[in-house]
Amino acid sequence: MNKFNDFRQPTDRAEIKTVGYKFIDMLAEYMDRVHNSDTRVVDYLPPDKSFAMFNEPIPQNGMALEKVLDRVVDPVLKYAQNLASPMYMGHQVCHPLMLSALANGLSNAINQGLAIYEMSPIGTMIEKRVMRWLCDGVGYDEHGDGTLVSGGTEANLTAIMVARTMKAGSDVWKDGIHKPMTGFCSARSHYSVERAFGISGIGTNNLVKIKETSDFKMDTNELIRAVETSIRAGKKPFVIVATAGCTPVGSFDDIETIAAICRRYDIWLHVDGAHGGSFIFSDRLKHLLKGIDQADSITLDPHKMMFMPLSIGTVMLKNQHHFDETFKVNAPYIFHKTQNNLGCLNIGERTIQCSRGMEAFKLWICLQHYGIRYFADMMNHCAETTRYLYDRLTDEKDFEPLNNPESNILCFQHIPEKLKLKNQETIDAFNFDTRNALNQTGKAWITTTVFGGKRLMRTTIINPRTNKEHVDQLIKDIREVGSKVMINE
Ligand SMILES: *Cc1c(COP(=O)(O)O)cnc(C)c1O
Repeated sequence: MNKFNDFRQPTDRAEIKTVGYKFIDMLAEYMDRVHNSDTRVVDYLPPDKSFAMFNEPIPQNGMALEKVLDRVVDPVLKYAQNLASPMYMGHQVCHPLMLSALANGLSNAINQGLAIYEMSPIGTMIEKRVMRWLCDGVGYDEHGDGTLVSGGTEANLTAIMVARTMKAGSDVWKDGIHKPMTGFCSARSHYSVERAFGISGIGTNNLVKIKETSDFKMDTNELIRAVETSIRAGKKPFVIVATAGCTPVGSFDDIETIAAICRRYDIWLHVDGAHGGSFIFSDRLKHLLKGIDQADSITLDPHKMMFMPLSIGTVMLKNQHHFDETFKVNAPYIFHKTQNNLGCLNIGERTIQCSRGMEAFKLWICLQHYGIRYFADMMNHCAETTRYLYDRLTDEKDFEPLNNPESNILCFQHIPEKLKLKNQETIDAFNFDTRNALNQTGKAWITTTVFGGKRLMRTTIINPRTNKEHVDQLIKDIREVGSKVMINE
């Protein structure tokens, strides 16, 4: 008998059930509480308080599980940001499908190593299948494939490294980059694009940010001018990043036009659809992604608009062999060629990561149970509710929406009558303070950004439980909090 078979490492069936049910009970209690519409989005904790809750040395000896679980109930669950609340309209982090969270527990327990087929014959095929479904969705044929990554950031980095390798005109793997290479993206692209240029050594000065049109899309005339300027300067334009659902306002670049420019100048087209790529599955929203099948690579985050828990991102390539050109491996202790006619089955040969988990499992479970139409309905509902918010704000005299939203992100300013004649600085400060004060009440939770020189309030409607009545409530809450902020300023 080995001491690791004791209760502290539950291993037998009865013990696993006892401990497992405790977690399920906590989960059920938590969900019951947070689904109650009176529950606040957050009980605001200043950092010194939350620090104090965890400030202790590493435990030398274990304590009873009950005691540990008490601390999970309070403070962990008590103070967790309540993403289930329909009044949460903040960053692009969803309240995940509960089934996906439960699936995660199971896949963590079996802990399949997804780098190589022989360690995970089943996990490999599940990931391959999920990627096939997504590739079919974006219109890639059998030459296309993708891998799961940690999220949009890693997906964009991967795609830009592949683009660099394929367009450099030299053996980047062995010799590095010789000719200055330039990339292009819209001024509103996600910061991870610029970081990818920094991380990969291409250099952030070699990323040209193209200004946007009045509807917040990349100005394609400006893009052509920038590409030609770059060529004249003796540089090699190698990638254009079109954003499909930009983070600040949710607008979509014109992929078709950009694809034609890419063809004309032999440039790699990457579509950053971390947020909006999933809309390809919605009949109502997929028009925003017209031309996405022409992209050489695509980022799509199921942990955003496919309602999966963090983290599960994907990167897809129109020609999967470009992965192999970019991520060469020489590690005879792990990678052995498997005889098969199914292509690359050692997914780790195509990723930055070596050890990688079975993240596809949760999505695979949910896609089977709900079907893709249910996902599309959730996306449509979020976009429709955002449109309702826009319509309401347009009607109200004390609100100014920034733009007609294309998807489920909307920015606006609250300008009460008394502030109408004040300068921009005052209005900006008022919006910033009102947003912060609103979030601290815990009644609702939104974000803020600076856009076009103005400080805006920003909402992402990413909870399918958010309805019109919650939007009405948000407007009321902002007014109420705003009037208090005004008295204090
Ligand atoms: C969220 C987002 C990213 C970053 O994705 P992560 O999963 O957070 O790493 C990149 N691009 C766009 C357009 C995004 O919305």
